[in-house]
Amino acid sequence: MAKSYVHEARRRVGPKRQRIRPVIERLAAEHQDAAIALTFRSELELLVSVMLSAQTTDVNVNRVTERLFEKYRKPEDYLAVEPEELERDIFATGFYRQKARWLRGTMRMLLDDYDGEVPDTLEELVKLPGVARKTANVVASELGRPQGIVVDTHVRRLSQRLGLTKQDDPVKIERDLVKLVPREDWGRFPHLLIWHGRRVCIARRPRCDDCVVVDLCPSSRV
Ligand code: SF4
Repeated sequence: MAKSYVHEARRRVGPKRQRIRPVIERLAAEHQDAAIALTFRSELELLVSVMLSAQTTDVNVNRVTERLFEKYRKPEDYLAVEPEELERDIFATGFYRQKARWLRGTMRMLLDDYDGEVPDTLEELVKLPGVARKTANVVASELGRPQGIVVDTHVRRLSQRLGLTKQDDPVKIERDLVKLVPREDWGRFPHLLIWHGRRVCIARRPRCDDCVVVDLCPSSRV
């Protein structure tokens, strides 16, 4: 896109501070079912599901955890079997050796430092083996304590297209978003962008004709 065109597009839609609320409201009305796609019944299952979801799809994780969570109900259960058995049980999620190592390390720490409970602050969550900032953000947010904004591939693409950030690095994008998005929306905001990204603002071919924020988007092709 030529620079003058970008400038013109940004001028047309107005400053991002004025657009953010209508963007959130319209996406929330459009994607009322926007929520995490992982299936879990407890905080521990949430943590395990998010850890397993690295480099694979939520559908795939749900398929594996359906059986996994029948067998592994508490942190001790993950340590009671041979590492190879846990590896086999999570094999289909990919990177199973690494993930099994991280799961065991995390369960050990939960038992040693948190009485077997899942902590809910970002600082504590990122200390768990294999729990990076994105995983911690997802878990904290689902526990009702969002302390940042989850930036995955959809959030990154849509934030850029909507002109909410000029950054490319997820950590820097998150820094821009937390300054812009009202705190009470930190939890649902990524879900809205993820679902909009899956259904409408598709990576290769955004469906701008069907987009509810078309007049608020500097990248609109309409
Ligand atoms: S107008 Fe087009 S580019 Fe902008 S958010 Fe909608 S679908 Fe994506």
